[in-house]
Amino acid sequence: MPSSLAKERAWIEVNLAHLEDNVHAIQKVISPSTKIMAVVKADAYGHGSIEVSKYLNRLGIEDFAVATLEEGILLRENHIKGNILILGYTSPQNLRLVVEYDLIQTAVDKEYATRILHVPLKRKLKVYLKINTGMNRLGISYDDVDFIKEIYKKQEIDVVGMYSHFCVADSKEKENIEFSNLQQTRFNTLVKTLKTSGYNVGKVHMQSSYGILNYNENGSYDYVRPGIILYGVHSDTNAYVKRQIDLKPVLSLKAKITSIKEIEAGETVSYGRTYQASKQEKIASVSIGYADGYPREISNKGAKVVVNNQYAEIIGRICMDQLVINVTNISEIKVGDIVTLIGNTPFITAEEVAEKAGSITNELLCRLGTRLHKVYINKREEL
Ligand SMILES: *Cc1c(COP(=O)(O)O)cnc(C)c1O
Repeated sequence: MPSSLAKERAWIEVNLAHLEDNVHAIQKVISPSTKIMAVVKADAYGHGSIEVSKYLNRLGIEDFAVATLEEGILLRENHIKGNILILGYTSPQNLRLVVEYDLIQTAVDKEYATRILHVPLKRKLKVYLKINTGMNRLGISYDDVDFIKEIYKKQEIDVVGMYSHFCVADSKEKENIEFSNLQQTRFNTLVKTLKTSGYNVGKVHMQSSYGILNYNENGSYDYVRPGIILYGVHSDTNAYVKRQIDLKPVLSLKAKITSIKEIEAGETVSYGRTYQASKQEKIASVSIGYADGYPREISNKGAKVVVNNQYAEIIGRICMDQLVINVTNISEIKVGDIVTLIGNTPFITAEEVAEKAGSITNELLCRLGTRLHKVYINKREEL
């Protein structure tokens, strides 16, 4: 693709210096003995898993988590070094690829853990046991101690560790804090039980972003698994945060002004005629739409964008490839001017856009579409 197309229409700007700063901010609040396992699933939450992982490799991060086998293979094909954990299910017939690409598979439940013992492979499959401590999505039950011990003893596979996952670590409700503490107690007790019975449990971990911010590991975990905070944003504006850390948003979303016109009072804008001008107004079309992952749900909610350092409001329905903004009060606007939909100067946070879309930043960012180009900026020179 000709490089002049990168900023032709709509693109994501990924600030690698901010990614680096977030890594350091997270390292500051975890124990020195605990390492970061960077969660780069879903194309690194829309930031581009190859570039992001390469940069993290250069920063010394040697552990990654992905959701799928294919995501893991993509990283290996692009020479990402270190451990790569697949968090999700891989069908037994494709486990040979897990071995071939030197990935680590999660044993997603008891049945799966038993089944993988009988899959013939060239080398021993590296496996993490997922422990269900209350989320009830994946995992072997925390109280199935005898089974867990049995699996650790198996020679057919190489159990490298076990991990669990919080389900309400972002909530400040007393009941939910109690539940998170209960999950942690269940996991820690299991680890302790195995250790006192002489088992080498390998690596253990349980904290994703809000686990890191709200629940201490006290040096007892080998890893933390940050996703969303690595990218410098909170899941939503109301999330519970006990340990404030200085996060810097990594991603900006940009597009261009393609057409400017005046409309009279009473005229309507876009599909469905949902917006009607109350006076003469200057409006502009912008080259981004819901096919790029900017949610249609945001239509007619007073959402703002930034043009020439000034806020402008999105009016009418967001279309597949375009949207319209009110630029009546914006000085010196012209075709080709850059419009910021998420980003700074002045700020439009991913959190507020996600809130208007009735969602969380995790979903908003990872759904930013394949049609968007990615532009990587502020790579530190020595890296
Ligand atoms: C997605 C995921 C993470 C990262 O979650 P964030 O909330 O984005 O930090 C960590 N662990 C598991 C098992 C996950 O599925």
